[in-house]
Amino acid sequence: MRFEELTSPDVAALDRDRTILILPLGSVEQHGNHMPLGTDTLLAHSVSLAAAERSPGATAVLPPPWYGFSAHHMRFPGSITLRAETLMAVAEDIVGSAVAHGFRHVLIVNGHGGNGGVIDLLASTLGHRHYGKARIAALTYFQLARDAIAALRRSESGGMGHACEFETAMVQHVRPGLAKMELAEATYPDPGSSYLATDLLGGSAVKTYLDFADLSPTGTLGDPGLATPEAGKKFFDAVVGELVAFIEDFRGWAIPGQPK
Ligand SMILES: [Zn+2]
Repeated sequence: MRFEELTSPDVAALDRDRTILILPLGSVEQHGNHMPLGTDTLLAHSVSLAAAERSPGATAVLPPPWYGFSAHHMRFPGSITLRAETLMAVAEDIVGSAVAHGFRHVLIVNGHGGNGGVIDLLASTLGHRHYGKARIAALTYFQLARDAIAALRRSESGGMGHACEFETAMVQHVRPGLAKMELAEATYPDPGSSYLATDLLGGSAVKTYLDFADLSPTGTLGDPGLATPEAGKKFFDAVVGELVAFIEDFRGWAIPGQPK
């Protein structure tokens, strides 16, 4: 269910107590020499739509705001960044509108690592603001499906970071022909300390600013050469399966502050 294709009476007729509303978030930023700027939003939107379609219960997907927090990509032409507080404000206003219309369960599905801190804050800020009215959850889809992705990957640690084995295969599956594979180049970056990791599935306990132009001459982190459309389909199906499972669990979550 694409929210932007519904009419106002369609929304009025929805069982908003039971409908899960998804807000996809991503970014417009460099994705190496071979992948489009809109990769993260395209993928977050695609996995959200597929999960909504496969969910047994009613699930609607809001049109995503294209832009995210991408300060660390700005040395590459084409990258567009919102300030973190702008992204917060945009998402807060969208979710606030949805809650005003009676939606009880709103899920932010993020597809961009750089939005991670913002979506953590959104979950708690919005959860507090709408306490008693709605339940808000936020996730980054490749972290939700971390184990399934790990079981499918071919690269060693560092091979999945950005415009990598995973993202490239996903784009090959979702939008065949969009990735320019003849321009794909592998980079296994060295962030300079064993406390820091750039792998998509890794995650460091320590946070610091890592400018992508210092990590990789092309902006790619990882090995896009290992990507294939077939692998992309497997990654995509695994991610959507995990997302459907979460959505159905989330549908049963109580609204905090409401009598049961
Ligand atoms: Zn990306």
